[in-house]
Amino acid sequence: MFSKNRKTKANVLCFGRQFFTASMLTVNMYAKIIYDMSYMKRLNLFLNVLAAIICILAAHVLILTTEKTRLTYFGINGYYIVLIFVRRKMEIIDAHIHWFTHEHALDLAKRAGHENNEVHLRSEYVRLGIEGAVVMGNRGLEPGAGEYPDIMRYCVGLDRFFSNMYDQKNAYDLLEAHLRSDTCVGVKLYPGYNFQYVYDELYGTVYELAASYAKPVAVHTGATAFSGAVLKYCHPLTLDEAAAKHPDVQFVMCHLGNPWITDAAAVISKNPNVSADLSGLLEGKPDMPALFSEQMGYINHIRTWLSYMGAYDRLMFGTDWPLVNIENCIEFVKRLVPERHYENVFAKNARRIYGLVF
Ligand SMILES: [Zn+2]
Repeated sequence: MFSKNRKTKANVLCFGRQFFTASMLTVNMYAKIIYDMSYMKRLNLFLNVLAAIICILAAHVLILTTEKTRLTYFGINGYYIVLIFVRRKMEIIDAHIHWFTHEHALDLAKRAGHENNEVHLRSEYVRLGIEGAVVMGNRGLEPGAGEYPDIMRYCVGLDRFFSNMYDQKNAYDLLEAHLRSDTCVGVKLYPGYNFQYVYDELYGTVYELAASYAKPVAVHTGATAFSGAVLKYCHPLTLDEAAAKHPDVQFVMCHLGNPWITDAAAVISKNPNVSADLSGLLEGKPDMPALFSEQMGYINHIRTWLSYMGAYDRLMFGTDWPLVNIENCIEFVKRLVPERHYENVFAKNARRIYGLVF
């Protein structure tokens, strides 16, 4: 081990010496060329080098401030500077996932072409450039309910809030304990499953707590996962009254109220404190070319109302993992949103609305 280290050190020193000698020879050669030049040629060379330096500095400033590209440069033995302009990979945050471990979730993930486990999800996130996700909690309010892998933040779910599992006082204390935590980035309501309208007085304290911790309240809107739920409670129009009554609360309309997209657009346009996620608009692992040819009516309908709203600074990409293939979902949302809004919709809005730091 010791002799191997010594050998490596000797190699490095040898390479360093050779590099230094080559550089000195280069400098010497150029010095001689410059020395033999006429005064005018020297001035000309000086001005050219100055112009090149100014161009390189200007390119740095331009590239590093546009945020769309990154700059890599190499010096090759003192002869050249090669500039490579690489388009920066789009940042993505998944603003709506679920983290289940039960049997059913394994099947859902399989149908979407995935495996429902952390190792697989992490490798998919690395492959697709996804920084992290916001879990919509389905584990009640117990303190341990907020423990998720470090690529996730969570909205504490009030999925069983009104089912007599907790007395009200205890429930608010437990909710506040979650809101105090940095990894808890909001509250999630499931009105269609709890049979309560979100503008109901019952939610008053929940909204007060969310506002005091400046954390948003995400609401399931639109179609439900099973027939025992009741749609009238999760129609997007129900959010209008809640948003109007509580202007200091930031609401997130999950799933864009799908399929009531027109009503969702009206509510989002009218209320600046309502944003939306685009999760749950796609399920499983569809044949994308077939989807784009057969479902153009559906896609154009959503595109039309998104552009009617023009609120691309309040829309967030989300998948509803494990229900959908992530790559398909990215492709689908790209079809809905004009390219100039990708940065906002795929990452920036979620970062701002949920206050995310990964
Ligand atoms: Zn969901």
